[in-house]
Amino acid sequence: MHVCILGGGTAGWMTAAALSKKFDRQSINITLIESDSIGTVGVGEATLPNIRFFNETLGINEAEFMRETQATFKLGIEFVDWGNLGQRYIHPFGDYGQPKDNIDFYQYWLKLQQNIDVGKLSDYAFGIVAAEQNKFIFPHQGKTLLQQSFGYAYQFDSGLYAKFLGRFAQSNGVKRVEGIVVDTDVHRESGNVKAIRLKNGQYITADFFVDCSGFKGVLIEQALESGYQDWSHWLPVNRAIAVPSENTGELSPYTRATAKEAGWIWKIPLQHRTGNGHVYWNEFISDDQAADQLLKSIDTPALAEPKQLFFKTGRRNHFWKKNVVAIGLSAGFLEPLESTSIHLIQESITNLIELFPHNEIKSPSNELVINENDVSEYNSLISLQYERVRDFLLLHYVATQRTDSEMWRYFKAMTLPDSLQEKLDAWTRRAYIQRYEFGAFFPPSWLAVLLGQNVLPEHFDPRVSKTSNDEIYKFATAMRNDLAQAVKQCKSHRDFLKAYGAASGATPLRST
Ligand code: FAD
Repeated sequence: MHVCILGGGTAGWMTAAALSKKFDRQSINITLIESDSIGTVGVGEATLPNIRFFNETLGINEAEFMRETQATFKLGIEFVDWGNLGQRYIHPFGDYGQPKDNIDFYQYWLKLQQNIDVGKLSDYAFGIVAAEQNKFIFPHQGKTLLQQSFGYAYQFDSGLYAKFLGRFAQSNGVKRVEGIVVDTDVHRESGNVKAIRLKNGQYITADFFVDCSGFKGVLIEQALESGYQDWSHWLPVNRAIAVPSENTGELSPYTRATAKEAGWIWKIPLQHRTGNGHVYWNEFISDDQAADQLLKSIDTPALAEPKQLFFKTGRRNHFWKKNVVAIGLSAGFLEPLESTSIHLIQESITNLIELFPHNEIKSPSNELVINENDVSEYNSLISLQYERVRDFLLLHYVATQRTDSEMWRYFKAMTLPDSLQEKLDAWTRRAYIQRYEFGAFFPPSWLAVLLGQNVLPEHFDPRVSKTSNDEIYKFATAMRNDLAQAVKQCKSHRDFLKAYGAASGATPLRST
């Protein structure tokens, strides 16, 4: 069976690496087409913790991967000015305190903080306390459960990651073809893609195609007209300007997202440089003003000219149609506030591998027969993932007291998706966070944003009333002190990278 992957960005090479690792070379041979002259989107530097498992299943050595991609560890995202101007919080990858009697710690904290000063809830999250002191340790090195109750991800140079995986995939037998696709041959009766034609005349046939061609969706949209669900009424930001700058200061093990009048600015510390960008809604700010705000926010010299990107948030109607599966930006884009795109790529790959049409049954016209049940299962699983991410992203814009600009007033007047409204109602009524069966963000993430943006519930879980304030105070204080002591003993993030062999030791590089 011949599989053709169109596109050599993060999505294309992640797909190629995973397919070539999981399937036998004899049964599936893979060609990846990419075009240096078209290039990649060139952003996408912050990730979620699951990426560790993606790398692990490929058998990639973590320290080597980090050296090769100039990666830093990421314990969470610092949100500045989201709840209100002048406020900040960290959304960590991890939990707050330890449950007691099967009740989450935050419920005890909600009760106690009404009468007694027990500090912020963030004082009980190992990932936050370590991040705020620029410290790092692996969760498995923690001595107590509390010290292990966090996760971590990476911040890396996405171009270097694609190259790294490119070497991996090619050593596993993936054939790379350089060229520009100018035409697609679609079977008149079945509607399957038969082949693609390159500018140099090459004609490449395949049984199955993975479209990783970026926003355009060369196969899924231009050839198969999947259609696009426009979600910009919920997530209206539609442009971004990105610029790398020198990294001279302390390496922070977290990404920063600062809310602005018509969007937000990111700051991502890598080993060799800092990634910066302004994501905005052009209805309420001009491109020049957006660039100006971005450049003013950068405290080190820029390493390249600012690059502008245009997008419309939403997703394809069908991620998998006929013999084409779209992965990456060709499948949809929901804006980068919580670093979810690479996560959605990973989820798409994992589900595709599970449902991969490897039975080699061919129709009379010699086409691969695709099982429609598998297609609809895949599409509904991935739809759910996109919807979960959409709701969580939207939470940041609506759980706020800001009304100081047109954009923030737009969100105040918005009718929310039912799924998000229900979650918010459950929280407000009884501090309950509805759990999802699928989705990237677990209750502690929702808690981080809700409390971080001043959305307090009317009641806490009534079961905690059985425990006296004195008792809660005692175990909470002991927990907080243990955590503070444990963080004190951690290495700085920079020293940890060196000791682990993950530091590249390179001096700041000029961006290409
Ligand atoms: P691309 O990088 O655009 O790659 C497309 C590939 O297709 C290229 O190789 C191109 O050459 C090839 N191609 C296209 N057309 C043709 C053709 N006709 N012929 C031949 N080849 C062709 N994600 C995160 O997880 N974290 C983040 O922090 C993050 N930040 C982002 C910030 C912004 C502003 C944006 C816009 C996105 C961000 N993303 C982030 C998303 C992330 O960048 C993408 O999900 C990721 O890079 C995957 O892109 P891709 O491979 O789908 O597309």
